[in-house]
Amino acid sequence: GRKFFVGGNWKMNGTIESGKKLVETIKSAKLDSNTEVVIAPPAIHLLLVKDALSGVEHVQVSGQNAYHKASGAFTGEVSVTQLQDAGIPWVILGHSERRTVFKETDDQTAEKTKAALDAGLSVIVCVGETLDEREKNESVNVVVRQLNAVADQVKDWTKVVVAYEPVWAIGTGKVATAEQAQEVHAAIRKWASDKLGQSAAESLRIIYGGSVAAKNCKELATQNDIDGFLVGGASLKPEFTEIVNARL
Ligand code: 13P
Repeated sequence: GRKFFVGGNWKMNGTIESGKKLVETIKSAKLDSNTEVVIAPPAIHLLLVKDALSGVEHVQVSGQNAYHKASGAFTGEVSVTQLQDAGIPWVILGHSERRTVFKETDDQTAEKTKAALDAGLSVIVCVGETLDEREKNESVNVVVRQLNAVADQVKDWTKVVVAYEPVWAIGTGKVATAEQAQEVHAAIRKWASDKLGQSAAESLRIIYGGSVAAKNCKELATQNDIDGFLVGGASLKPEFTEIVNARL
């Protein structure tokens, strides 16, 4: 079976104080031990959150982005190697905000994913269509295009989690229905089976992101190919622990 996976993407939110408080909430909650939890705070809070979580089982930390070069004259960037050196085991790559606001391409996302895996990190690779693309019935095509770019450079997907995050559902309160999400997740699993082989496809975690909340997580979590969530807004609230426990 695939271990249920819930990521909390804090994005560019919070202070040292609010980050500490959120960690306290997570530490004091009773979390499903069958769920793998990964928290992605802003880069400047990563070590603080990692230290505050030390000794908490099943909860790890993640970067929200990283640069593929190990070091050098790349002002403002943090490298995959530096994350690894700092004991940060995960990184989110190809988030739609990286793609749309910062114009990162499919190929750059792929290059970063390869570099992160080579550096020993585990990667949450994000894919998803815009509203315009959904209305043109292109959701699966877009996601497959984004995944193929990664598969061109990455052969071993054991340390990859795929996050399906339809752009129209991110931060909008407009969650995909369980059926809409399951349909794309099943298509991703089919893609993985064709491209990576059946056993890789069966063990690949495919998580959903986009307006996940306590009130909608349980139904989504019952779907065959939904193996967890990547949570934005609700990961900044105590409600996050209810989402971690969606399958309890
Ligand atoms: P929201 O949960 O705020 O819609 O954000 C989802 C997301 O982008 C997680 O990476």
